[in-house]
This record gives sequence, structure tokens and C-alpha cells, in this order.
Amino acid sequence: MIKIAAVGGEIRAALLAWYDAHRRDLPWRAAAAETPDPYRVWLSEVMLQQTRVETVRPYYERWLERFPTLESLAEAPRDEVMKAWEGLGYYSRARNFHRAVREVAESYGGTVPSEPEAFRALPGVGRYTAGAVMSIAYGREAPLVDGNVRRVFARWMDAPDPRDAELWSLAGALVPGPRPGDLNQALMELGATVCTPRSPRCGACPVAQWCAARAAGTQEQRPARRVAKPLPHEDTAVAVVRHASRLLLVRRRPGVRLGGMWGFPGAVRRPDEAVGAAAARAVHEGVGLDVQTMDPLGVVEHTFTHVRVTYRAIWCEVQGGEPAALGYDAWVWAARDELDRYALPSAQKKLAALATETSLFSP
Ligand code: SF4
Repeated sequence: MIKIAAVGGEIRAALLAWYDAHRRDLPWRAAAAETPDPYRVWLSEVMLQQTRVETVRPYYERWLERFPTLESLAEAPRDEVMKAWEGLGYYSRARNFHRAVREVAESYGGTVPSEPEAFRALPGVGRYTAGAVMSIAYGREAPLVDGNVRRVFARWMDAPDPRDAELWSLAGALVPGPRPGDLNQALMELGATVCTPRSPRCGACPVAQWCAARAAGTQEQRPARRVAKPLPHEDTAVAVVRHASRLLLVRRRPGVRLGGMWGFPGAVRRPDEAVGAAAARAVHEGVGLDVQTMDPLGVVEHTFTHVRVTYRAIWCEVQGGEPAALGYDAWVWAARDELDRYALPSAQKKLAALATETSLFSP
């Protein structure tokens, strides 16, 4: 185990010097003399969770054009916020961020709280986000551990599967001192650019002399790879209901998978349930319409973090009833050129493309 009490100061100094010389220029990073904007720091940290830097970059820039300040985001309708997040995935991040920002506007006069406990109590703010925002935006000595830091620490310790408590304790021992935000960013940057999962560049590493895995030659095996469990599978019938050249879209309730996003009504098929029967059930239970199912439209496969889904789309015609938001929180008949106004997750976008590209749907 690395003895932070003995060498922590040297490691800090080496990391900060390396960071000053090698940090990437990223749109959410304040320049050396600039004061970071807590709203921007927070936004970038939320966007970067589970998502690559290059994917985030254009979203971040477009987002700030649309919602340049915390107040502008707090005032925006949820549909607009979800539309701006469309394609980034993990939509609960956007819902929670929007709720949290509204709470900051209402309860803190629009200023992101600088007290870690207050910030941590906001919706969607976990230990990592709190550490990142508190240290980067406010210079608080708040530790953080993300996937990159975990890998770096596992290698310093030469530990195949370090416990969370050990990792957070190491981060907590290292962060006190000057520039805690830069120290945290230096650790993450090291993991992202030098101490990479495969072929770490130990020759270019500022902390190589304190790295137990390097000394043992076990860098590539640390941390040990976790064996991925096979994902459960859902077979979902999707009802593409057409009526007077419009398609029925529904908005999913908050708190469910893809909550707040729009799409077609759907239901996971029960054992031995036909696609048409499941699709008709989805429409009946979701919006109270009775439909006749027609031709199959196509199949879209999608993998979420915890489940793999096969969407089987089928055309449906309205037979009776008036739409009502029963199992969803809103519904709309959308014309072909209006589909783009609604925030659709990627699988639903593919289903919409199947529906609008076929001659069976004429505008
Ligand atoms: S010496 Fe190599 S394995 Fe150790 S922290 Fe540096 S890059 Fe990672």
C-alpha cells in the first residue's frame, strides 16, 4: 500500500506539474487564470458520466448556446431539456440535473451551493459529482474517484480489485493541499491519457516511481477485468398507430426507464403472447385506444446498460376510443415533419425512421 503520509506531497507536486504541462484543452475547462463557472463545471460532469469526451463536446457547446445560464435552464420546459439531451443516453441524468437546477434557482437564488452537504442533497448528485464540482468550481478539498482514478490507484497499489473504501480513502488523503480541483483533474487526466486500460505509457508517467504495479510488471493486469454477466433480454412489441397521416407518440412517465422521453407505445411480450396482441395491449393500457394490428413494420435491437431489448414494431389502425394519458404522462398525434420536435431516444428514432420511410405511411 502506498504510504501517502510519507510521499503524498511529492506525488501531488508531480501530478500538478504534469497537469500544467499536459492537460488537454477542453471546452469546459477554465483557463489557468480564469474562475470556473460552477454551472458549467456541473453540466460537464453530468454529461461526462458514462460518456466519452468526444461525444460530449458538441452536446456541451450546443447546450450552452441554448441554456447559457443556470436560470435559463431552470426556466426551460422539461421537453426542451430532454430534446437537447436527445442522443446522449442515460436520460435520468438530464431529468435530475434539470430538477436540481430548478431547486438551486428556487432555494439558493440561482447560485450553486458551495457547501458539500447542501450540494450533495440535490437530485442526482452523487459522491463523484459532489467531489468534482466542489473541488473544481470552489476549490474545496473534496475527493473523487471515477473509473480512470480507480485504474490509476489500483496500479499504484498493485491491487487486482481494490475496495471502494480503499480508493476513496486514498483520494481523500491526496486531495488536501493547494489546487485540489486541479489535483483531481490531474488524476483523471492521467488515467485518460497515460495510464490507459491497455498499454499504459509508464515511460511518460509523472508518478511511475511510486507505482507498485509498474515495479512488479503487472500494469496490464491491474485492476483485474470484471467478467461481464450476460444481460437479460426483453422482447417488446411496439405499436405504430397511424391516424389521418399522423403517428401516435407517447411520453414516458418520470421515474421509469427513458422517463420524460417520447416514443411509440410498447409492451414487453408475455410468454406466448403474439406481437400484435402485446402491441394492442400497450395502446389500450397506455392511452385507452382500441386498435387493429396490421403488418409488421420491422425490428430494432438496442442494448441498454442493464438490459438488451428487441423492439418488434407493428402497424396499427384505430378502431375506437379517445386517447387519454393512462400509462403514459402525455400523448400526441404527430405529423411526419413534426416528429423531430419530440425528444426520442435512439431506438425510437430508428423505429420512427422505419415508419416514415415506408410507403405504408403516406403524408
Ligand atoms: S507507472 Fe504506468 S501503471 Fe503506474 S500509474 Fe503510471 S502509467 Fe499507470
